[in-house]
Amino acid sequence: GRAVYVMYFPTSLRVHAVVVNPFRNKELSPAFLEKQFRDACQTADPLHENLTFHVDYHTSMDAGSKYVQRMLLEYRQQHPGPVIGIIECPKLQAIRESVRALDDFPCVTIPCNARDNNYQALGWQATAGRTSMQRCAASTQWFNERISLARYAHVPLGNFELDWLLFTADVFFSRALHDQQQVLWISDDGIPDLGGTYEGDTCFADEVIQPALTYPGAYRRVSVELKIHHLAVNSLLKSSQVDEMEGGSIGNFENDIPPGPNATETDYNDASLCLPAFQVLKQLIQRCISDAVSSGNVFADAILQHLYRWLCSPRSRLHDPALHRLLHNVMKKVFALLLAEFRKLGANVIFANFSKIIIDTGKVDLPSARAYCDSLLKTLQTRDLFEWIELEPLHYWHSLLFMDQYNYGGIQAKTQNVTSVDSSDGEDDIDIVSSWNIAEYLPKATQDHFVLIVSEFLYVPWKYMKEQVACRAAVRDDTSCTPSITIMAAENLEGQVVDYLRGQIGTYFAEKLLTIVSDILLHFKGKGKSESVGPSNRELDPHLHKGDAALEFIKHICAVLALDQNVQHDILRMRKNLLKLVRVKEFAPEAQFQDPCAAFILPNVICSYCNDCRDLDLCRDSTLQGHEWRCAVPQCGQPYHREEMENALLQIVRQRERLYHLQDLVCVRCRQVKAAHVSEQCNCGGSFRCKEEAPQFLGKMRVFLNVAVSQKFELLQDCVRWILEVR
Ligand SMILES: [Zn+2]
Ligand SMILES: [Zn+2]
Repeated sequence: GRAVYVMYFPTSLRVHAVVVNPFRNKELSPAFLEKQFRDACQTADPLHENLTFHVDYHTSMDAGSKYVQRMLLEYRQQHPGPVIGIIECPKLQAIRESVRALDDFPCVTIPCNARDNNYQALGWQATAGRTSMQRCAASTQWFNERISLARYAHVPLGNFELDWLLFTADVFFSRALHDQQQVLWISDDGIPDLGGTYEGDTCFADEVIQPALTYPGAYRRVSVELKIHHLAVNSLLKSSQVDEMEGGSIGNFENDIPPGPNATETDYNDASLCLPAFQVLKQLIQRCISDAVSSGNVFADAILQHLYRWLCSPRSRLHDPALHRLLHNVMKKVFALLLAEFRKLGANVIFANFSKIIIDTGKVDLPSARAYCDSLLKTLQTRDLFEWIELEPLHYWHSLLFMDQYNYGGIQAKTQNVTSVDSSDGEDDIDIVSSWNIAEYLPKATQDHFVLIVSEFLYVPWKYMKEQVACRAAVRDDTSCTPSITIMAAENLEGQVVDYLRGQIGTYFAEKLLTIVSDILLHFKGKGKSESVGPSNRELDPHLHKGDAALEFIKHICAVLALDQNVQHDILRMRKNLLKLVRVKEFAPEAQFQDPCAAFILPNVICSYCNDCRDLDLCRDSTLQGHEWRCAVPQCGQPYHREEMENALLQIVRQRERLYHLQDLVCVRCRQVKAAHVSEQCNCGGSFRCKEEAPQFLGKMRVFLNVAVSQKFELLQDCVRWILEVR
C-alpha cells in the first residue's frame, strides 16, 4: 500500500512526513515540502520561519505507522503539558487502530475530502505532499475557528460532530426546548421519538413539493434573474403576520399554489401538535438573528443560512417531519405573497421557485432595467412582511427564450461591468447561453444544429433591434429630442422587430431548416434506426416512440421556436412544411412534441465536506448522468455518500408506494373524495377512480428504476423492480 503520514507539531516547530512506498523511488524532499507549506500559507506567520521539515521513507504500512507511533510517544515525553490531536484522515478508524498512541491524546477530526485519497500511478508523492502541506497549513485556522465556535455554542471542543451546523442547531434547539419544559424527541433515524411504539409503518410525508411557477415564452426585453436568500428564516419570523392575514389558521393551510406533478397531498393534522415547538424555534432564530446582526457572529449567520437544510435533514437529531411541513407551508404562503407583490409592482414573473425568481422588466435597454430592478428591490425591502428576505440580482438577460428551468436559452449580459452604466450594451458584453436539456435526446449529429438555430433565433432579432435603436438615436440627435425612448416608440419598435423576425422566419430560418432536415434524411438513410436513439435512459422509457432523427429534430426545434407567441403562427406554418419532408401529417400523434425527460428531483443533498446544499435533478442534470454523483462546488468535488443517497431514494420510493396504496378514491363526475366505505357509486351517480392512477405511479417508479440501474444501486433496483412486477 501507499500512504503519507504527516505530523505537524506547531509547538516544537517540526513537520514530519512519513511516506509509505513499496518501491524505491523517493520523490519528496524537505525543501519541496517547505516550499509547498509556504505557498499554502497566504499570510507570513513569524512562527513558520523556524519550522523544520523531515521526510522518512518506509516500505510497508506497518513500519510507517510504527514510526508514527514512536514519534508521538517521543513528543509526549518531551511535552508533558496539555496537547490536543487534530486528525484529518480518510480512514479514521484505521489510523486510530494502527497508531494506538493517539488514544493518549484528546482528538478532534477535520472532515476529509475523498479526493485527497486518490493517488495517481505516477508522481503521486508530489501530489500527496502538496495536498498534505495544504491541509497542515489550513489546520491552524480551522482549529482556531473551531475554538470560537465552541465558545459561542458552549459545547466542548471535542464533542462536535462532523457536520457542525446540524449539530449546533440541534444543541441550540434542544436547550431552548428544555428551557420551555418541552420533551425532546431526539432520534438517530429521522423519525421523531415521541414515546409511542412504531410498528414500522408510520406514514410520513416528509417529501414536500417545492413549488415552481413557469411561464414559458420568448422574452425579448431585458429580464433579470434574482436569487432569493433567507426565505425560510423570513417565513419563520413572519409566521404570525401570515397567520393573521389568513385568519388565524396556522397549521391548517390549504394549498393555493398548484402542486407539482407528484402531488400526493397528505393532510395530517399534526401541524397543530408541533405549534409549541414551532414557537420555540422562532424564538431561537430571533436570538440567532440578533447575534448575527448586532455582533456580526459568523456562526449564527451560518446557522441562519442553513436553517432550512437543518429542518429537512433526517440526519438532524431533532428532525420532525411535521415541523418541516409546517414551515414549508408558511414558506409557500410568503412565497406566494412575494410573487403577488412583484406583480403589483408591475414585474412580469417568468419563473419562480424557492431559490430564484426570473422577472421580465419590460425595459428595452440594460441601464433602465437595472434602475427598475433596484427600485423594485428597494420597495420590497420596505415591506415588513419580507423584512429578512434578500434578493440578489444574478444575471441580466437581454433576451430570453424560456421553456422551463432546464430548457432555456438567452443573451446574457456579462456581469463584470455592472457598475459602469454606459457601454453595457456592446457586442462584446454578451454571452449567448444555451441550456437545453431536451437537446440531449436528439441524435448527436443534430444537436449542434439545434443549438445554432435557437441561438440565431434569439440573436438575429436582438441585433436588428439594436441597430434600429442606434439608428433612431442618431436621428434624434439631429432633431435634439428627449434622449429616452418613450413607451410609444418602444412599442412601435417592438412591432418592427416582430415584423422583421417574421420575414426572417419565412426566408432565412425556413431555408436553413429545410437544408438541415434534408441533410439529416440523407445521412440517416441506410443506417438502422437504432442509431438515432439518444441517451441510454431512453430505451427504458416506454413513453417514447423512437422516431427517426429528422422528425425528432423538427419536433424539438419547432417546439422551442414556437415559444415566441408573436410569431407562433409563422413557426407552425414552417413546421407543417418541414413535416411534409418526413411525410408526417401536421396533427398526427407522432408529430406532437413532449418533453422526453421524466423528472425527479432529490431535494437537499448535502456535501459532507463543504456543507453545500443543493437539489439534484437526477434525470435532467447532465453532470449527474452516468457519472458518480459529486458536489458541484468547484474547489470541492467531494463524491456524495452513495449509501446515504440510495437510502434517501429508497425512503422516497417506499413512501410513495405507501401513499399510492393508501390513496383516496375520487368520483369521476363530481371529483369528491369517496367517504362511504362500501358504496360502489357516488351519491351523484358517478363511479370512482383512484386519485393517482396506476400508469402515473408506475411511470414514476420507472424513473427510479432508471436511476438505480445507471447508478448501480442494487437494493433500490430490487425494491423498485418488485413494485413494478407486482402489478
Ligand atoms: Zn462539497
Ligand atoms: Zn360524484
